[in-house]
Amino acid sequence: MSDKASARRPLIAGNWKMNGLLADAMALIGDLKRLRAEAGETVFEMLVCPPATLLRPVAGALAGSPIAAGGQDCHTQAAGAYTGDISAAMLADAGAGHVILGHSERRHGHGEDSALVRAKALAARGAGLIAVICIGETEAERDAGRTLSVLSEQVEGSLPEGADAKNTVVAYEPVWAIGTGRTPTVGQVAEAHLHIRERIAAGTGDAAMRVLYGGSVKPENAAELLGVADVDGALVGGASLKAADFWAIAQGCPAD
Ligand code: PEP
Repeated sequence: MSDKASARRPLIAGNWKMNGLLADAMALIGDLKRLRAEAGETVFEMLVCPPATLLRPVAGALAGSPIAAGGQDCHTQAAGAYTGDISAAMLADAGAGHVILGHSERRHGHGEDSALVRAKALAARGAGLIAVICIGETEAERDAGRTLSVLSEQVEGSLPEGADAKNTVVAYEPVWAIGTGRTPTVGQVAEAHLHIRERIAAGTGDAAMRVLYGGSVKPENAAELLGVADVDGALVGGASLKAADFWAIAQGCPAD
């Protein structure tokens, strides 16, 4: 196994967002489990992040499988008067090993800033969860030539002290590429990932943290995106809702 693979095994993560009822989830997980079992050894790890209502049954169905389950957000507090919220401890109790934090749909749809994401990441670590921290520029920020400075600010603001390759994964998700069918060029992805890795290493001293790419990943473009230097896997939205597509994306991971 190469140094990169041993330190930064690709992670293929599915973000189901607010999609799926129990029957859909069980069918999807059944198909994924079968594909994963037939594959034997894989170069990648796999994670699915269903809506909170489906976490316990999904995690239960995945018991004994190497596919992990995760949440899509958590509160900064472990418990209390926070109607509608869910704590990291509750996610862990339901079977999660990971939690997505700072997704652009939370940053832009719910007004979450990097300081809040950082506090949530600390809460996640306290509950034993791996934080998948999303960062990414808007189209206006890219057009203004601010991509790298925005990424620096988000890395520095969102990763808490003590973040390392064991408790944290970063996902680079250009906001303008999420759910749009548009993707950055290979050169833009390489530039962003190298910059993010350098900022993480400068801030944490850990150059082995995985940095995923997310934004309109599909079977047709997966191999090209996953083959870019410093891309350590993918965070997949829409295409993670079909087992065959999600599995085909994972097949785009470069062989060792
Ligand atoms: C996402 O929701 O994190 C995402 C990348 O979505 P999509 O793959 O649908 O662009």
